Amino acid sequence: MASFGRIHGRTNHDLVQHLKNAHIIKSDRVYQAMISVDRGKYTHPNHAYIDTPQGIGYGATISAPHMHAHALELLEDKLHSGAKALDVGSGSGYLTACMAKMLGQDGLVVGIEHIPELQAIATENIQHDNPELLRSGRIELIVGDGRLGYPKRAPYDAIHVGAAAKEIPQELIQQLAPGGRLIIPVGRECADQTLIQLDKTMNGQVQQKSLMGVVFVPLTDKERQYRS
Ligand code: SAH
Repeated sequence: MASFGRIHGRTNHDLVQHLKNAHIIKSDRVYQAMISVDRGKYTHPNHAYIDTPQGIGYGATISAPHMHAHALELLEDKLHSGAKALDVGSGSGYLTACMAKMLGQDGLVVGIEHIPELQAIATENIQHDNPELLRSGRIELIVGDGRLGYPKRAPYDAIHVGAAAKEIPQELIQQLAPGGRLIIPVGRECADQTLIQLDKTMNGQVQQKSLMGVVFVPLTDKERQYRS
C-alpha cells in the first residue's frame, strides 16, 4: 500500500490517526480497535509507531501497521459482536488483540502459532496491554500447526493468515462458517505473493479473489523456521 514507510507517529494514537488520515483505516470500529491496542506493547517501543514491519525473533515479523489495518478492514463486517475468529500465525499477538476488541465481550479469537516461544511472548504482550482479553477467555492462544486450523472451535466467521502459504489449506476452508471470510497471502517463499480473499456463501460455495501483491514470511514447518 502507498503509505509504506512514510507514517511516523510518536504515540500509538498518532500512528492510528495517521493511518486514518491516509484512508487506510476507513471504519470507526477498526479505528477504535487499533486505538485500544498499543503496538508499543508488542514490539520494540523505539520503532513501534512507524509504519514498517519489524523482526520479533524466531524468523517472525510483526506486520506493518498499514497491513494490519488493511486486514482488519477486509474482515470488518465479519468481525462483528459475538463472532468467532481464527488468527493463524499469531506471532506478537497484536492483530489477535485487535480482532478480539472488534468482537466484543461475547466474541472469541483463537490465535494459533507454531513456535511455543512466540506464543509465550504473545501471552505476555497481551497480558501487559489488555489483560482482560485473556482473563475473560475472549482470546485463546494455542501452540500448533496453523495449516490445520483449530477444529475444536470451528466454524469461524473470519480467518486471518499472517504468513504466506504455498496453497490455501483445505482445512481452513472447511473451518470457515457459511458467510465467513478468509484472508490469506499465497505464493512461494521470497517470491511474488498475492493476498487472497476467500468467501464462503451461505450455501457453502466458495468464491475467491486476488487483492494485491504482498510480502509475508512463509507458512511453514516449525523445524524449517527455527533453522531460518
Ligand atoms: N501476525 C503476526 C505474525 C506475523 S509473522 C504479527 O503481526 O505479529 C507470521 C507468523 O506465522 C510467525 O509468528 C510464524 O511463527 C507463524 N507461522 C509460520 N508458519 C506457521 C504454521 N505452520 N503454523 C502456525 N504458525 C506459523
